[in-house]
Amino acid sequence: MTEITAPHPSGLTLPAIVLSADGEDAWGPLTPCDDPFALDPDEIARRVLDAGIVGLGGAAFPSAVKLGGARKAGVHTLIINGGECEPYLSCDDRQMRDDAAQIVDGIVLMLRATGAGTARVGIEDNKPEAIAAMRAAAAVQPAVQVCPVPARYPMGSEKQLIGVLTGIEMPADGRPADIGVVVHNVGTARAVRAAVVEGKPLIARLVTLNGNCMKAPGNIEVRLGTLAEAVIAFAGGLKGEGVGLARRVLGGPMMGQQMPHWRVPVVKGTSGILALDADEVAAQAPDPCIRCGSCVQACPAGLLPLEMSARIRNDALAEAVDIGLKDCIACGCCAFVCPSRIPLVQYFVHAKGELAAQERARLRTDATRKLAEQKRERVERDKREKAEAAARRKAEREAREAAARPAATPAEGVSA
Ligand code: SF4
Ligand code: SF4
Repeated sequence: MTEITAPHPSGLTLPAIVLSADGEDAWGPLTPCDDPFALDPDEIARRVLDAGIVGLGGAAFPSAVKLGGARKAGVHTLIINGGECEPYLSCDDRQMRDDAAQIVDGIVLMLRATGAGTARVGIEDNKPEAIAAMRAAAAVQPAVQVCPVPARYPMGSEKQLIGVLTGIEMPADGRPADIGVVVHNVGTARAVRAAVVEGKPLIARLVTLNGNCMKAPGNIEVRLGTLAEAVIAFAGGLKGEGVGLARRVLGGPMMGQQMPHWRVPVVKGTSGILALDADEVAAQAPDPCIRCGSCVQACPAGLLPLEMSARIRNDALAEAVDIGLKDCIACGCCAFVCPSRIPLVQYFVHAKGELAAQERARLRTDATRKLAEQKRERVERDKREKAEAAARRKAEREAREAAARPAATPAEGVSA
C-alpha cells in the first residue's frame, strides 16, 4: 500500500492510497447474518456504517446517519429513487432489472431501520422491464409499492420525486423528514442488503459508460478507486482513439463534473463516465437573453431563471434569494433549453456557493465574537472574584485582630 496525492472528481487533489493486488481477487473474512430481518434497527445502521455505505444516487450522504435520523424524526414513508437522475445514465435501470430481489430485501431492511411503515419505489414509466422486475420481487412484500412516475427530467431529483409520489410539496429550505419521508436510491438499497445480509463492505458500484465517443456504451460494475481511463480501456476504449472527443464528464451531462483528463478515480458517487463529441456539447459563446421565457417553462421548481440570473449578475444575491434561488435544484433544465446558450445553472451553482461561503464567514464571525465576549466575561468574573476574596480576607483579618485585642477596662473606658 502506498500513500499518494491524487485527483478527485470534485476537481480537488486529495490524499489517496495505491493498493497492490495480490491477484487472488478473494474476500477476506465476512460476517454474514443468519436472520437479518430480525435485527435491531441500531444493529442494521451499525452494519451499514461499518460497510461504508453512502447514497449512491450521487449525493454520497452517509446512509447510516440518514437511517438513524429518519427513525428519530418518526418518518412514515420510505421513498426509493429509481428515477434515473440524468439523461445518458442507465445504471439504476440496469440494477433494477438485474437485482430486483436484492433491492427489495434492502428496502425491507431500510423500513426496519427507519421505522417507516411504507416504501414507495418511484420508477420512470419509460422503464417497463425495471417496473416489471421490481413488481415481481415486491409481490410478497405488501409494504413495498412500485409506482411508475412520468419520465420527465429531473424526476430523479429528490424534491420532484417526493412531490409526485406523496402529493406533498417540500417546503423551501426544508428536509424530507419535515414532511415524514426519507429518500434512498435503489443502488443504496442493494448495498444495504449486501452489508447486512452478507457482511460485505461497499467496494464497487455500477457505472454507466456513454456518449458518442464511447466505443461500447453500457453499464459496468467498477471497483471504487479505479481510474476512469482503466474503465474505458476495459470497455474497449474510445472511438477513433478519442479523435472528436469534446468533453469528458464524470456523472451525468447536466450535473456531472467536467474532467481535464481521464486519470480520475471512480468514487462512491460516480454514476457515469461520459465521452461526448461536439454535437453533444453546445460549446458556442452565449448570446444576450431574448426573454423568450423558455427557461421559465422548463424549470421544474417553478422559478424564474432569467430573473434570478439577472440579479446574480448584478451582485444582488439577496434579491435572487427572495425570488427562490435556494429552491433551485441545479437540474440544468433552464440552461439546456436556453436558445441563447446562457449558462444559467452555472450562475445558480456559483451564487449558492457564494451564499454558503458568506454563511460560513458569518458563523465564524459570530463564533469569534462569542469567544471574545466569553473571555471578557471570564476576565471580569476573575477580577470580581479576586476583589471579593480580598475583601473577605481583609474582613476576616480585621475580625481576628479585633478578637485578639484585650478587652478595655472600665478605668480605661471612662474618663475622670
Ligand atoms: S431561455 Fe435563455 S434567452 Fe430565453 S428567457 Fe431564459 S435566459 Fe433568456
Ligand atoms: S437549474 Fe434552472 S431549471 Fe433547474 S431548478 Fe434551477 S432554475 Fe429551475
